[in-house]
Amino acid sequence: MILHVLGSCSGTEPYPARHHTSVTLETEGSLYFFDAGENCCYTSYTMGLDQLSTQGIFISHTHMDHTGGLPHLLWNLRKLCLIDPANKARMQGRKIPVYIPDLSVFEGIYQMLLGSEGHYETVFELEPHLIADGPLCEKGLKVEAFHNLHLGQPSAGEPWKSFSFTAQAEGRKILYSGDFGQLPELLPHAHQADLLFLETGHHRACDLCRELLESRVDFGKVVFYHHGVEILQDFEGELALAKQVLGDRVLFTNDGSRIEV
Ligand SMILES: [Zn+2]
Repeated sequence: MILHVLGSCSGTEPYPARHHTSVTLETEGSLYFFDAGENCCYTSYTMGLDQLSTQGIFISHTHMDHTGGLPHLLWNLRKLCLIDPANKARMQGRKIPVYIPDLSVFEGIYQMLLGSEGHYETVFELEPHLIADGPLCEKGLKVEAFHNLHLGQPSAGEPWKSFSFTAQAEGRKILYSGDFGQLPELLPHAHQADLLFLETGHHRACDLCRELLESRVDFGKVVFYHHGVEILQDFEGELALAKQVLGDRVLFTNDGSRIEV
């Protein structure tokens, strides 16, 4: 399984050489996008990833730094079918599931696509799904969602608005944090993960490393993304502090990082 980092930045103002959050997991010839910050379409395409092999898109929550690139990514899937008949044949009759915690945001994005050229008429279908706790996708990559407290507790009867995911394939397990409240929200799902992929937009990496060490959770590596100001301003200094706690089990990502799991 390969994890490609398309955007490593939290929801800051535009920052040199970093774009908002998005990664794609590649397993057995298929791609699965986790979050879709600005530029995820451009970056994945120019990295040479085969967007037409996308089997699922998972949005942790609907803040702009996680969704800003979704319309462009979906627009490009149609565009690729228009420019090459072989692409069109590959996509004929396909369904692309989009898992999202707020269907009204998907509807807004779909309206953008309809308002662009060609009324989004194409040979494949987008299939929106409201995320709830539990398994989302069982074929290929096995993905499970669990809610977190990044956007607080919903009122009675309302769905949760922010999720983290575990993803398993090829005998490997990844925990993808999305944005989260506190580390204990993730820990019950972190057991035996080969890779914990954690955000630093609301947390300091060295603090999370210390908490992980004290939690005695059994995990492989911890990889940080969705960087906040501490890392944006002092990447090497923050990395050194995190390594003091967990040594070479720690990695900080950049746009374009490629991690084999
Ligand atoms: Zn964010």
